[in-house]
Amino acid sequence: MDAPAWSLKARWVLPVLTPPVENGVIEIVGDTIVAVRQGGPATHDLGDSILIPGLVNAHTHLDLTGFPRPVTPPPTFADWITQVIQHRLRETPEQRLMAIRKGVRQSMAHGVTLLGDISSNGASSQVIASESVAATVYHEILGLNLERANQTRSAAANWLSSQSSANVLPAISPHAPYSTRRDLYAWAQSLSVPVQTHLAESFEEIALITHGSGPLAKMLHDLKLLPTENMPQGVNDVLRLLASQSSTQPVGLVHANYLPLESASSLGPNVTLIHCPRTHDWFGREPFPLLEWIRAGIPIALGTDGEACNPDLDILAEASTLFQMHPDIPPAKILEMCTINGAAVLGWKGKAGALATGHYADMVSVATDSASTLEKVLENLLVSKPKSMKTLWRGKWR
Ligand SMILES: [Zn+2]
Repeated sequence: MDAPAWSLKARWVLPVLTPPVENGVIEIVGDTIVAVRQGGPATHDLGDSILIPGLVNAHTHLDLTGFPRPVTPPPTFADWITQVIQHRLRETPEQRLMAIRKGVRQSMAHGVTLLGDISSNGASSQVIASESVAATVYHEILGLNLERANQTRSAAANWLSSQSSANVLPAISPHAPYSTRRDLYAWAQSLSVPVQTHLAESFEEIALITHGSGPLAKMLHDLKLLPTENMPQGVNDVLRLLASQSSTQPVGLVHANYLPLESASSLGPNVTLIHCPRTHDWFGREPFPLLEWIRAGIPIALGTDGEACNPDLDILAEASTLFQMHPDIPPAKILEMCTINGAAVLGWKGKAGALATGHYADMVSVATDSASTLEKVLENLLVSKPKSMKTLWRGKWR
């Protein structure tokens, strides 16, 4: 039997893909939006509310939920990475699953309907499969020596071929140029799945892959991983391997704090930069040239990163921090970064991230003030924490 049609009405509907609709109505059948219109009757009236697409957190590490993040970052990036590695070594598989579950639940409470999770062994896909949220799960691959690289590649290949959940899209993440051989990047690029990599995150990374010097180089020497000829040679080498004009799959470059703006012309049409504003802030990075990247036509998506460098997994708080740091960016543009742009980089373009016919019925309803103009409504969404928030995922209230 076909699912019955029903509809939701709100003072403002913000489809993102198309202009806002006052007194908008969204018609739903099963898990899908079948129409968006202005005015007329609806089966459910949300009154003075705004309806936005379900929120998309394009980059997180669910398995680091609960990480005891210090108040200030350690002296060097290499120190921070060492702490993360030590945490992972201490963790049992059960503790890791618990952290993932906690991260999923926390994300859902913040209105997230689609996640991009970097999973060190792909374990989050089994947790997410039974939750009311969708995700692109990136099996992480890394290794500077051949043995480690082969081991991670075969684990990832086995994992990719075993995935079949309707709400999980399997993907691959070469970790970062300081930990991942060139041939692993090339392998990731040869697969027809979404890819994400951390890139140009710190000066230490740039010093290592450009000159072979700095604290990260020392750390890798101490671990007997250097010297190696297999590490990407500079940022442009990674771009050539993964993010060139010929890449066809969605590619997310995470952080890209020190990616030269001149790189914009060499990035393929499927490349998105993933910015994590509160992580950026915690590490005390230089201001991110967001407006310049937007002007260069490069899409930006938002992520929370993991709790090893971020207070929580609240993607709207990232949007809010971004708005405070970049008051020159219109709120509607910021909303795109945590909805439609996130969905695109995660490989869900046309299915998630917008309120439009044929998309999943994923949306967040936020109560608003009846006298507010649309500009005020959007500003309030980013400035003050929503008092009440309800999330519909695939046509059902969560
Ligand atoms: Zn990350």
